[in-house]
Amino acid sequence: AQSSFDAVPMAPTDPLFGLMAAYKADTHAKKVDLGVGAYRDDNAKPWVLPVVKKADAIMRDDPSLDHEYLPIAGLQSFTQAAARLILGRDSPAIADQRVSSVQTISGTGAVHLGAAFISKFYPRQQNQPVFLSNPTWANHQQIFSNVHLPTTTYPYYYPPTRGLDFDGFTEALRTAPEGSIVLLHACAHNPTGVDPTREQWVEIAKIMKANNLFPFFDCAYQGFASGDLDNDAWAVRHFVEQGFELCVAQSFSKNLGLYGERAGVFHFVSGSMERQKRIASQLAIIQRSEISNPPAYGARIADLAMNRPELFEEWKVNLRTMAGRIITCREQLVAKLRERGTPGDWSHIMKQIGMFSFTGLTEEQVKKLREEWHIYMTKNGRISMAGLNSHNIDYVATAIDKVVRET
Ligand code: PLP
Repeated sequence: AQSSFDAVPMAPTDPLFGLMAAYKADTHAKKVDLGVGAYRDDNAKPWVLPVVKKADAIMRDDPSLDHEYLPIAGLQSFTQAAARLILGRDSPAIADQRVSSVQTISGTGAVHLGAAFISKFYPRQQNQPVFLSNPTWANHQQIFSNVHLPTTTYPYYYPPTRGLDFDGFTEALRTAPEGSIVLLHACAHNPTGVDPTREQWVEIAKIMKANNLFPFFDCAYQGFASGDLDNDAWAVRHFVEQGFELCVAQSFSKNLGLYGERAGVFHFVSGSMERQKRIASQLAIIQRSEISNPPAYGARIADLAMNRPELFEEWKVNLRTMAGRIITCREQLVAKLRERGTPGDWSHIMKQIGMFSFTGLTEEQVKKLREEWHIYMTKNGRISMAGLNSHNIDYVATAIDKVVRET
């Protein structure tokens, strides 16, 4: 029978999903998964953070907890602690009550809530696009287009140096239509691992101020990148200090290893308390119509991790464990490539930060690594650093060395 839905086209399969399926189906003993966007320990296993186990045990013994709805804006002790975490305990924006914080379905939900709010309330010239870095997290473009916001890109990654295209980036900011929204990765840029330096952030803020651009920060890796929560929040705090109105989509997936629990917060920092109240009221309406109220479990874990001093200290240790392991893998991979005399300069792997590295491997090399060595990564040459460990790093270095020499 005919259907009104006959015109629905088949969507392309998610490339990452295809990669995961191919890895799973591969029976080779030495196969390596460098695609996964989640932390793995030295045995390639997911890691439940000790701080999360402790918080979970506390919750289980707490007779006051029930399964009632959270408020529309979420668990307030969690969202307020989350605001202090990203903006800093002494943030004047918090002291002046200029921050609206709404609990979301993790970082994805936070980007979406911000996009939905902007789509509804931000005055834009017709079809004025949201600026995304080139490249960016694969989900950004569709999150904005889902709420009818067109997007465009600003130059970001510079292949010759495997670093930042600072000139291209700043030129795009200078020439963007006044008032444009610019999405910025707060730290540990996904997929490249390339972040601006502090001096570069200062310059970026200056240009954005001069051109009245609106910063939309996506912060998915605070503490996970350098191992230090304050260090990874530096750029956001600098922009707040410069007096911007801005928003931040904050995820607890990576830094607490709470991927499946969907703990996140959307923060809007506005210029006045009075405006903040109106903005918060509208965010609540969007939230109500979309999810009614956010999920409790992950928020309670993150709440305990931030608000119990002894757990907060433990969390920081856990963060240093994850970030430290990844930084060690970076150093070792570079050292092992140098040992082998692999052609090329691999120092960028050490300079890049966070979950990923843009290796500069070509599509052809990526294909060879997969077909001949059973090493899986996205075809742009991005590797998930946490997929490396003491058991497979020599194998991976040898494979990269061979493939680079052959092609
Ligand atoms: N933003 C960026 C840049 C990311 O890399 C991710 C996760 O990979 C997210 C947001 C959102 O993740 P989640 O929705 O799990 O918090």
